Amino acid sequence: MSATEDDRRVDPAAYQERLDRISELFASMIEVAGDVSTRRCPYRDRLDRCTAAFGCRNQRFPGGKLGSKLCGGDEAIDYRGAWEET
Ligand code: SF4
Repeated sequence: MSATEDDRRVDPAAYQERLDRISELFASMIEVAGDVSTRRCPYRDRLDRCTAAFGCRNQRFPGGKLGSKLCGGDEAIDYRGAWEET
């Protein structure tokens, strides 16, 4: 069974309602992300591993330099000053 032309027609009001709902959802997500980013480094994953591809004073190497990196930073401080410039 194929869709008819009427089936594919977009109801502008319903479309706008969905866009508004999506915008509302993303706005609240962006607000939370913006707030968290002032406290938590974006390179720190949920398991406290560091995913940065650059040096940072907060990186810890419990398994040696070739092992995975952990973040040893304190979330109470501004992490950006710990990043090493190349
Ligand atoms: S070690 Fe540095 S770059 Fe890595 S997650 Fe922690 S603060 Fe961010």
